[in-house]
Amino acid sequence: NTTPINIAPAPEGYSGSGFFATKFDYVIGLARANSLWPLPFATSCCGIEFMATMAATYDMGRFGAERNSFSPRQADMLLVMGTISKKMAPILRHVYEQMAEPKWVIAVGACASSGGVFDTYSVLQGIDKVIPVDVYVPGCPPRPEQILDGVMQLQEIVKSESIHRRGSERYQELLESYKFE
Ligand code: SF4
Repeated sequence: NTTPINIAPAPEGYSGSGFFATKFDYVIGLARANSLWPLPFATSCCGIEFMATMAATYDMGRFGAERNSFSPRQADMLLVMGTISKKMAPILRHVYEQMAEPKWVIAVGACASSGGVFDTYSVLQGIDKVIPVDVYVPGCPPRPEQILDGVMQLQEIVKSESIHRRGSERYQELLESYKFE
């Protein structure tokens, strides 16, 4: 008998990695993305823009990220804002290490992203020399809209990544490649 057998297509959501895993990842990602707890690591002028970002006009609370934490133990979004000197670098790494997984990092402004105008012996030329960065926000300083845009970009990363993603191989590379002076 050569009659082809009709095989019904798999119901939507049952292909790929399996219904439970994909939907569970999606729901967890959505919850994480809309309840980020920021840790503002502000060392100079960019930090002032962050204050405006949190205040009524720009109101970062609209994105579920109004709960600032100054304890790394209760934060999952590290916002580094300002010039980071080489002397400050071990402290920044220490703060990052104290945060529990999952955690994300935004480099806010030119100084945090690349050292900015301070191309000098005492300034770290970008925080990604010592910790992994998820989003870079350009500007000197960035306006509050740009900081919000950075948070929204991070939300997209958080939503789309697997709950199993973390463990940061990049961080292990950094640990080996950068030696504090
Ligand atoms: Fe200040 Fe510009 Fe550096 Fe931001 S990027 S900390 S505004 S010098």
